[in-house]
Amino acid sequence: MKIVHLYPDLLGTYGDRGNVICLAERARWRGIDVTVDAVERGDTLPNDADLIFMGGGQDRAQELIAPELLAMAPRIGEAAARGAIVFAVCGGYQLLGSRYDEVPGLGLLDLYTEAGDDRILGNASIDTAVAGTIVGFENHGGRTYLGPGAKPLGRITAGRGNNGTDGTEGAIQGNIIGTYLHGPVLPRNPAFADALLALAIREELRPIDDVLEMAAHERGLELARKRRH
Ligand code: GLN
Repeated sequence: MKIVHLYPDLLGTYGDRGNVICLAERARWRGIDVTVDAVERGDTLPNDADLIFMGGGQDRAQELIAPELLAMAPRIGEAAARGAIVFAVCGGYQLLGSRYDEVPGLGLLDLYTEAGDDRILGNASIDTAVAGTIVGFENHGGRTYLGPGAKPLGRITAGRGNNGTDGTEGAIQGNIIGTYLHGPVLPRNPAFADALLALAIREELRPIDDVLEMAAHERGLELARKRRH
């Protein structure tokens, strides 16, 4: 399996690289060979990725990388069309839409994002069809609005989600999946990590011992329930 991590230096402010480590390790624990390729500025996108990951980043980093990402958009779209999974968190998720405020996005997810007046900040939980309850930490100023082409990844059960108003969180459109949830999100939600892996390699995965991961998941749920707004 090949995982491609896009711009880990710029889109990596919030520890989202933990998602890549989690995916790679969970595949290796099943005896699957995994390579992780980092794509840095000036690099081209490998054409044999099974999963492409993009993390969150500050506005400045997003602006800086947007032109290069935009040029890469057709290749990312092609990868998704041939079956690769594209998974993005927060700043990366915003850039997959048509724009983040003034910054043009890749247009691969039918959504757009506008800057908000305050930050959406705190532990959150959502109900999803792909992996049941997912917990994480939201930390963003942007407000994201989905168009008809994208479905929400989940419904907020605690927290504020895409825009603080419509109860949605994240988006799915074909093989392209985005969420605002940090944590990093995948180590705390092993079912979500395995769902992405299984989709990427098109194989069922044998269960593994997730006692520690589920303890982290439960703790996230507890924290999300205590959140007041
Ligand atoms: N800069 C973006 C925002 O604040 C994304 C932040 C992030 O990736 N956590 O909306």
